[in-house]
Amino acid sequence: MDTRRVPYEEVNGDKVLVEVDVCSQCAGLWLDADDGDVRALTRSTLEEETDSPEGTEDEEARPTCPRDESYLDLDFTVKGATLFRCETCHGTFVSRPQAERLAHTNSGEIDLGPALRMMKAKNSRRT
Ligand SMILES: [Zn+2]
Repeated sequence: MDTRRVPYEEVNGDKVLVEVDVCSQCAGLWLDADDGDVRALTRSTLEEETDSPEGTEDEEARPTCPRDESYLDLDFTVKGATLFRCETCHGTFVSRPQAERLAHTNSGEIDLGPALRMMKAKNSRRT
């Protein structure tokens, strides 16, 4: 696991750096339960990358938790992306292909990533 620090805007508007773990083998993302919004963090992590790692997704393999090695349960689907969640520590695993899907889904009802939101705020500012 490589640890990345990515910008994240909390619900109260504070901007913080959150540590996101990225698997050095499959390039999947690991988000701890208290890291924040999975989608915002996934997008932020991908935006921070200078090169896009080739991700792999083994359909057969059942991922294990990098924290406590429990098997992860296929838990929920967010905007068409299937995510795994650890029953023990409630961390979330986002495989690389699912991360791409999650980050690039665009719809009006979806919360924008912090960078996009900042751009929007800039554009709407009166000159
Ligand atoms: Zn766990």
